[in-house]
Amino acid sequence: MSVPPPFLPYGRQCIDEADIAAVAEVLRGDFLTTGPTVDAFEAAFAAAVNALYAVACSSGTAGLHLAMMALGVGPGDVVIVPTVTFLASANCAVYVGAEPVFADVDPDTGLTTLAAISEAVERAGRDRVKAIVAVHLNGHCVDVAALAQAFPEIPIVEDACHALGAANGGETVGACTHSAIAMFSTHPVKTVASGEGGVLCTRDPVLDERMRRHRNHGMVRDPARFTDREAAFDAAGEPNPWYYEMPEPGYNYRLSDIHAALGLSQIGRLSGFVDRRRHLRGLYETALGRCGPHVRALPTAPGCDPAWHLSVALIDFAALDTDRGTVMRRLRDEGIGTQVHYFPVHRQPYFRETAPTPALAGADRYYERCLSLPLFPAMADEDVGRVVAALSRSLGNGGAAG
Ligand SMILES: *Cc1c(COP(=O)(O)O)cnc(C)c1O
Repeated sequence: MSVPPPFLPYGRQCIDEADIAAVAEVLRGDFLTTGPTVDAFEAAFAAAVNALYAVACSSGTAGLHLAMMALGVGPGDVVIVPTVTFLASANCAVYVGAEPVFADVDPDTGLTTLAAISEAVERAGRDRVKAIVAVHLNGHCVDVAALAQAFPEIPIVEDACHALGAANGGETVGACTHSAIAMFSTHPVKTVASGEGGVLCTRDPVLDERMRRHRNHGMVRDPARFTDREAAFDAAGEPNPWYYEMPEPGYNYRLSDIHAALGLSQIGRLSGFVDRRRHLRGLYETALGRCGPHVRALPTAPGCDPAWHLSVALIDFAALDTDRGTVMRRLRDEGIGTQVHYFPVHRQPYFRETAPTPALAGADRYYERCLSLPLFPAMADEDVGRVVAALSRSLGNGGAAG
């Protein structure tokens, strides 16, 4: 009897011996939580994405919360969020007492567009909109320059969790050429892993200072910023060594040096990871092209050099006389993991209740056809053929590959 091939999840981290050694070295040192390895990770991350400042924090979700606080978004404000995204892109507005207003997406790329954002801004009332979250779904990019030009007074936060290593209009995602902040996650399913973790990039020193402060309880330790002079300084004008100040409350959203060691080791392999993902996605494009008229690879948005986070197929399940759940179960039985990214967030029970939204036809059309196939750097080229052959079988004759 032959050994079944290994299970292929839709995404998976890629850890080598150097990563393991880097984490072990931190464990032998003086710092477990935020210390010199976090500084080194921030510097390496900033260099990798061409950012002026990079602030590491405990997760991408925490990062989005810090971004909202740094921008001063609060009760009564609106944050525009594309509806095809992970929950956290919208929840960050709720954390600060603001209201998410959901924007539609292009039915074929899954990315939001200037037209869709404009419609949502109009629906919300332009004066109320205090931030736009631009989600670079799947690893290709929203046209942030066009959004910035149309709404110069509204800060843009790039949710770049899927787009580490991508470029947009020739600029590295993270450089923040047209945005206030770009947020990345280093969750294991993303391109670079630290276990849990997030990184916020910005060109603005004021935002950098606020995000650093809010990730650490809102504490200020720089004597130049102390306001209560009597408590802060002694009779000789020396700052009291124990003293710190809190102008407004923050959170414990620090990253640990243990996590940062893994992230630092991994960020050194970013271009290799991205190249491998691009290569595999190219193989998928060719193989899916042979699956008949009702199956195709996600088209690439123009102007973008994607760093594929997911390999998405668009499948007309109804035309093939099947349904997505059946296909996913059949693939699972063949050792292939798939996922759907994402159920439109405005249709979640909580947001149906709190943020009633008109039908968003592009998002529904995208959602009903998308299926994320396995994509991670350690996959073999042959695995793509195995996945697409199994997909064709699971779709019946209509999805038969050549
Ligand atoms: C992963 C992800 C997040 C959240 O990141 P965490 O590090 O898991 O908190 C937010 N937005 C998108 C689009 C993501 O993929």
